[in-house]
Order: sequence, then C-alpha cells, then structure tokens
Amino acid sequence: MLHIRNYIGGHYCDPNSGLWIENVNPSTGEVYSLIARSDERDVADAVRAAQEAFPTWSAMPAKGRSEVLLRISAKINDHLEDLALAETNDQGKPLWLSRSVDIPRAVENMAFFATEILHTHTDAHQTDESVINFTVRKPLGVVGCISPWNLPLYLFTWKIAPALAAGNTVVAKPSELTPMTAFLLAQICIDAGLPPGVLNIVHGFGPECGQAIVEHPHVKAISFTGGTVTGKAIAAAAAPMFKKLSLELGGKNPTIVFDDVKIASTARSVARAAFTNQGEICLCGSRIFVQRGIIEEFQKALIEETHRFLVGDPLEPETRTGAVVNAAHMEKVLGYIELAKQEGGMILAGGRRVELEGRCAGGFFIEPTLIGGLPQDCRVNREEIFGPAATIIPFDTEDDVVAMANDTAYGLAATIWTTNVHRAHRTAQRLESGIVWVNTWLMRDLRTPFGGMKHSGVGREGGTEALRFFTEPKNICLQIEP
Ligand code: NDP
Repeated sequence: MLHIRNYIGGHYCDPNSGLWIENVNPSTGEVYSLIARSDERDVADAVRAAQEAFPTWSAMPAKGRSEVLLRISAKINDHLEDLALAETNDQGKPLWLSRSVDIPRAVENMAFFATEILHTHTDAHQTDESVINFTVRKPLGVVGCISPWNLPLYLFTWKIAPALAAGNTVVAKPSELTPMTAFLLAQICIDAGLPPGVLNIVHGFGPECGQAIVEHPHVKAISFTGGTVTGKAIAAAAAPMFKKLSLELGGKNPTIVFDDVKIASTARSVARAAFTNQGEICLCGSRIFVQRGIIEEFQKALIEETHRFLVGDPLEPETRTGAVVNAAHMEKVLGYIELAKQEGGMILAGGRRVELEGRCAGGFFIEPTLIGGLPQDCRVNREEIFGPAATIIPFDTEDDVVAMANDTAYGLAATIWTTNVHRAHRTAQRLESGIVWVNTWLMRDLRTPFGGMKHSGVGREGGTEALRFFTEPKNICLQIEP
C-alpha cells in the first residue's frame, strides 16, 4: 500500500513514531493508503531543515525565487490529470471539479505569487531635504502553514506560494483527511529544483503534528485555514509567543435574493453557491434569504435546481455531488438535517444518505438538502454545517434582511442578487462580511483581500495582503550628511 511520507530537507522520510494513519477514499469507504503519523520530533526536524535553508533562499533575488516557483506551477499543470484524480479519490469531489477548479487554481496560486513579487514596491518618506525614511520588507524566517480538507491542494498552495515567494522557508501540514496531493507536490518541488529545506511537508493529526508547528519556538508565523474552534486553540497557543497569525475560519454565509431578479437563472446560481463541492466550501451560501413577493416561485425553482445536483460516483462526468469527506462528517451533516426537523423545519428537497451500488457502495453520500420553515435564530441557521444542506428563509424589507444576515457569529462571505444597483450598493455596505458578491458567486481575483470578520477569522490573504503577512516592515532613517 502507498505510504504518504513526510518531505523534509528535500527528501521523503518516514515519521519518527513509525506509526501510520489509514487514509480512506470517501467514495468507496476503503483504506487505500497510509499516512505518516508525525509528532513534535518530525516537526523539529522540519524546522531545522527550514532554518538551514533560510539564509540562502531569503537572499536569493526575487527573480530567482520567481523562476523556481514558476517551474513548480508549470509542473503542477503538466500533472493536472494525475493530481485531479488523486484529489478526487482523497476528497470525494467530482473529478471534473478537481480538473477544472482545484488543480488549475493550484497552478495559478504558484504563478500568481511568483510574479507578484516582481511588481511590489515599498514606501519612502522624505522628512526634509537631508533626511529620508524608507521601508524595507524582510521575510520572517521559518513559517507554518496549516490547511483544511475541503480544497486540499488549492488551499495548501494558496498559503505556501506567498510564504515562499516572500523569501520565507516553510513547514506545512495538510489535513490528515486529504494529504495525497500535498504528498505528490513534494515530488514536483524536487523535480522543479526547489532547494532542500525551503518547503517541508509533515503529515499527521492536527492536535499532534499541527499543534507542534504552532508551538515550535522557531516558527515565526502561522497561516491557518480551518474551523473556528481550532482557530481559537491556535490563537491561544500562539499569542503568548507573539507569533504573527492569519486565521481563515468558518462561515454561515447569507445569500440574499431580492424580488427584482430573473427567477430561473438566479435559482441556478443560488443552488450552485449552496451545493458546489458538496457544500464543503467555506464560501458556500447556506442561509438563503428570499424576498416574500417571489418566495413561492423562487422556492419551486430552487427545489428543481437542487434536484439537478445529481449524487453519484465522482469519477462519472454527470455527477454533480460527490462523497462528503468521511463517515464522521456524513453523520454530522445528517445530524443537522435531523435537528432541522426537530426545530420545526420542512425538508423541501433531499434529506437522506444515498447508498450507491457497485464501486461506491461503501461511500459517504448525502442528497443535496433544502430546508424551509426554520426561524433565523435556530441552531441549524446559526451553526456551520459545511455540507450539502441549506435553508430558505423569507424576508420583507432591506432592513430586515440586513439584520438577519448579520445576526450570526460569522462574517466570511455574502451574496446579493438584485438588478437594482442602488440597493446592491446599500446592502453590500451594511453587511458584516469580508467578501460581498453581487450577482455572482466565487468570482475570485487573486489580487483582492480575502478573509472574514468576527468569528470567521483574523487577517487577510490574497495579493499584497499575503505578502505583507509573510514579511516584516523595517523603517530605515537616513540622514544624507552626518
Ligand atoms: P479543522 O479546524 O479541523 O482543521 C484544519 C487544519 O488544522 C487541519 O490540517 C487539521 O489537521 C489542523 N489542526 C487541527 N487541530 C489542530 C491544532 N490543535 N493545532 C494545529 N493544527 C490543527 O478544519 P477542517 O479541516 O475540518 O476544515 C473545515 C473548516 O475549515 C470549516 O470550518 C471551514 O469553514 C473552514 N474553512 C475556512 C476557509 C476560509 O478561507 N475561511 C476555507 C476553507 C475551510 P487534521 O485535519 O489533520 O486534524
């Protein structure tokens, strides 16, 4: 059986513990590989390798780093088909989605930051004719990147690309639920000529291996994407050590549909925003607010669109809903569907586990589920489900919907659907959300700031924000004549 080994100091190695974790394909329920169960000893080895690599990597001109990262980007693209299949087998998402979104985005992440560093500038402040202050930005040293299971290579590269581009060396940990593409990336880095120790990848459980990265005294910053509860634990461990922290956490995102929209096309987009990737995207719109005048017609159209998210074998091209990531997550999502019934909700579409035949008989599949009749303040509408389950809630006025949309601990993304530009602007300004999409969803421009308000996170990724996070500004004050 394939062993998913650590990548430390430029080569693959086994974990110090000698222990391995079973890796399950969520579409079949079968164990198909073994993952290194790393602990603080492996993390210490990785940090040591990263420390040794730092002086040379950070001193390399930006153009040199850029060339290496562009080679990695090109090689990810060369292996697109293999990586897409690996991602689908590890995560459960439809193969066409891995092929068209996840892996292409990993290619883009590497290329974007590889070129971004060639076009940055810093500030200068002329105090008077003889004194000038200028700012330089220095890489931090060894940084830690910890990523989740929903968009594995996509989010892994979203973190390591800016960290490496800015001149840091990295110790990274993918989720132990989906480590395969990060493991394959290590070989790509070797082939692309990334110097040993610049990127180190350690696999294992979050509380063992992830925590060891957070607590290591020589790791200067932590860039983390994952759940809010884990984010709190990481913040508590890192804050007394004065580490820089970027936390991208959970969401309970509102989708707001005003009564002036075209019903059929909007319902299609709203379903896409709710159910893409089995609803396992932090940006999915899981609370769908619809203005009362159109609610009946819109709900009917949305039910039809929900049924179009066909559940099936992720390798089949017509499948639009693959497997959720593991058995525990399936139980969690089904538990919330049960809770919705107890809270007085009505299942308008879906609502059950799907048991497929053949290859996928042991897989973890759930019907995309639309729930109506729940008040805004019930648990199902407050807690993050992170699966193929969304609720539909009527509203009357702009004020009402803004109040309900903001009535949550989270503030990651919101989507507004309207043809009235004034209403779009007014509502967008009032929503407590790091990202507001108007008449679109998941339209990303990698230059824009990305992140959440409230319990959805601290700090921003993307473009210059990410490069700022991974560097420390230093002011140099120069008097021309002593
Ligand atoms: P988790 O918080 O469970 O895990 C995220 C990562 O942190 C994993 O690699 C995990 O390892 C690791 N980890 C767990 N415990 C610790 C710890 N004590 N110290 C250090 N690392 C630890 O999240 P999920 O993987 O379940 O991802 C789903 C969550 O991520 C959802 O809440 C979702 O909203 C959020 N998310 C947010 C995004 C954003 O941009 N805001 C984007 C995507 C997802 P392991 O899995 O191996 O235990």
